[in-house]
Amino acid sequence: MNITIIGGGLAGASAGYHLVKLGNNVTIYDRADKGQATFASAGIICPWVSQRRNKKWYRLVTASAHYYPEFISILEQETGMSTGYKNSGAICLFKENIFDKATKRISDKGIDNPDVGEVRQLTKDELSAMHPSITTEYPALIVEGGGQVRGRKLLAALKEAFIQHGGSWKNESYNENSDVNSLKIYTTGAWGTEQKYKPEIAHQRAEIMHFRLKNQENLQSPVVMALGPTYIVHLEKDEYVIGTTHIDTDSFDTSPTEESYNYLREELYKYFQPEDVEITEMGVGLKPYTRDFLPFIGYVDDNTFVVNGMGSTGLTASPYVGQQVARLISGLPAELDFDDYNYIEPQN
Ligand SMILES: Cc1cc2nc3c(=O)[nH]c(=O)nc-3n(C[C@H](O)[C@H](O)[C@H](O)COP(=O)(O)OP(=O)(O)OC[C@H]3O[C@@H](n4cnc5c(N)ncnc54)[C@H](O)[C@@H]3O)c2cc1C
Repeated sequence: MNITIIGGGLAGASAGYHLVKLGNNVTIYDRADKGQATFASAGIICPWVSQRRNKKWYRLVTASAHYYPEFISILEQETGMSTGYKNSGAICLFKENIFDKATKRISDKGIDNPDVGEVRQLTKDELSAMHPSITTEYPALIVEGGGQVRGRKLLAALKEAFIQHGGSWKNESYNENSDVNSLKIYTTGAWGTEQKYKPEIAHQRAEIMHFRLKNQENLQSPVVMALGPTYIVHLEKDEYVIGTTHIDTDSFDTSPTEESYNYLREELYKYFQPEDVEITEMGVGLKPYTRDFLPFIGYVDDNTFVVNGMGSTGLTASPYVGQQVARLISGLPAELDFDDYNYIEPQN
């Protein structure tokens, strides 16, 4: 089939990569907007800790986490490039009064899912050995199955592999009148608001603070899911990020704000001594959402398919979603029940 993909973030690149491997003729257009979510992302792959109860979302992200190791191993072999993927484990902090309950809640998710790995409470000494500079009084547990990936490196590897497999990648804006005879797949992220069809896409502005942690160059620390929405991710060498803010907005302005800087610096100093860290830069990404906070994956007309609204777990979900979409479009059996993700609000 001739297929045109509009949007080369992780959702588009993954669909394109899997589609060319199934023998389709694919062109991706990407205009690399400032605020691309994939570029800004933190990279945590650990869907079992969330308290979100939506079963459709949970089925999607756990199947996606399951697909990651196989997907990365093939991609890294094909390209010789590193994606920064690691099964680093995830340290989770909780308030004392809910710690045992949270431990049970997460352990129970592992009963029928070996991907979760061991879930165990850490002593203070064990926590310090894993993350020597962290200072917290909160009790911690580790989820051994947790992992991380570097969004921008993964995207670079996918782009390379896509081209190696015969795909055509155009660093330009898509012109609506081109490629009239091909199926179009829109993976335009936050910029989905520019398209005329449903589902409606909204976005949140998410800011993330990059910092260096002194004297911790040689240790790979697990990701830390701290209190509330805060997380800390070790990127490489002494580079870390702490995130994130979530601000609903219509704006596409990606300049960092003083308010977010102050908020994240305050969060940073809750977990590290100011003299141990050096703040280096702020990153800003625009996370695409649908109205029900589930990704939309489906046809909007005979010739147009949409994958959007990947939200806060799009790095986790995009490789698997791309694989499943490629199978569906190529007429092969897919595991994913697409009816769970293609609901469009009726017009009033
Ligand atoms: C700060 C931050 C932290 C995050 N952390 C995590 C995490 O820890 N774990 C996790 O699983 N997920 C995380 N996410 C979420 C994840 O990054 C996103 O859900 C995912 O990257 C969305 O991918 P996408 O391809 O849909 O959108 P994007 O990556 O935004 O890509 C959309 C692309 O489409 C292009 N485009 C739009 N319109 C056009 C057009 N007309 N022509 C050509 N190109 C066009 C844009 O330029 C852009 O490059 C995070 C996101 C942010 C912002």
